[in-house]
Amino acid sequence: MKTSILAVGTELLFGQTVNTNATFLSDKLNHMGFDVMYHFVVGDNPARLKAKLEEAFSDTDLVIMTGGLGPTQDDLTKEMVAEYMGRGMYLDANVMDQLNEFFEKLGRKMTENNVKQAYLPEGCTPFYNASGTAPGFALRADGKTAICLPGPPRELKWLWDNGVREYLEQFMEKKMFYRVIRTIGIGESDLETLLMPVIDGQTDPTVATYAKEGECTLRVASQRDTIEEAEQAVQEMTARIDELVGDFIYSYDDEDLKEVVVRILKEKGLKITSAESCTGGSFAAAITDVAGASEVLSSAYVTYSNESKVREVDVPAELIERFGVVSPQVAEAMAEGARARSGADIAVSITGYAGPEADPGHEAGEAYIGFAMGDKTGHHDISTSRNDRKWNRNYYLLRMLRAVYMLINR
Ligand code: ATP
Ligand code: MG
Repeated sequence: MKTSILAVGTELLFGQTVNTNATFLSDKLNHMGFDVMYHFVVGDNPARLKAKLEEAFSDTDLVIMTGGLGPTQDDLTKEMVAEYMGRGMYLDANVMDQLNEFFEKLGRKMTENNVKQAYLPEGCTPFYNASGTAPGFALRADGKTAICLPGPPRELKWLWDNGVREYLEQFMEKKMFYRVIRTIGIGESDLETLLMPVIDGQTDPTVATYAKEGECTLRVASQRDTIEEAEQAVQEMTARIDELVGDFIYSYDDEDLKEVVVRILKEKGLKITSAESCTGGSFAAAITDVAGASEVLSSAYVTYSNESKVREVDVPAELIERFGVVSPQVAEAMAEGARARSGADIAVSITGYAGPEADPGHEAGEAYIGFAMGDKTGHHDISTSRNDRKWNRNYYLLRMLRAVYMLINR
């Protein structure tokens, strides 16, 4: 079904509020198989709101509006939609009861403009709002459907989960199944090239690639008459994708790399530690983000200075002098030392110049990961040519997670 999202609110045009409602709705609607074709944003102005409503309905059959449902004078979405659909307003007893109860609890008297919230267009399907005071509603006429929802994101989400989603299911001619596959170690354009045999000329299932920070995501979706058929089609396509780019896939179910790493460590009963310089402990922090991390991590080392690398993870001082503190040799020694000290099965380490500055003779972005597991010690050169500290540190973290993933996933 062709769909528009129309966000109402002058604050959106001023740049004071980010239009997260449109992002939220678009994501949900697309996953349900609606074709979202337009996003409109309009201020609290009746003439312009009416014009955009007309424009939206000229090319799409479903228009979802957010904002402007509240008690204040500038909240005029509801009246505008009722007028557009040729409906009058009625005082909804349920909303009135809810408002009375709300103000009783507060111990305040309800003001006249609050009563305004209890009026709804005749013939609408109300979405009663237990997370706020303004209800949402759906209104249909001549094959067109308008849905009006409150502006506060928390209320919008609550109503989505408690009524709106269910209401929209009647418009889904087909059932949709999709899966999000996550990859690392390959750029979006390379990924697309490898996947050309399945992307080219696709109709159903569809395969789309998205680049995210340092990784690429694939969305495989199918719409069929039954959910079983759709799932079957997605499974078959997943198998083909696996043949083409399986080496780069780390999750078939939209998991984060850190979640996957912790899961595998748990499954294999392995303990991990880290010795971190330029990431300042973000690897250990990422592992502890995942519930149940205590099973796999008992301690970790943040060794920022040269002295601490010697003192805490036993890097030989002469190694630092000979090769420099940012070197493959020091990275490996950090990993070996951390593993020996902690008694963990695996250690991963990092030393580098996150930028924007670097020591003489070096460039910002130069960095090395070390690892130690069983009788295996090694390193990866993960230097970037960037001097963007934030970017580098985020990239290094992903590379550390990936290095561990490569070690344990075999
Ligand atoms: P209220 O009952 O609170 O007045 P309302 O439906 O009238 O709700 P608005 O007054 O338009 O909604 O917006 C209320 C608040 O919700 C805004 O101050 C803003 O913080 C947030 N908001 C509104 N529209 C959006 C949007 N499109 N995306 C994100 N936040 C929004
Ligand atoms: Mg308002």
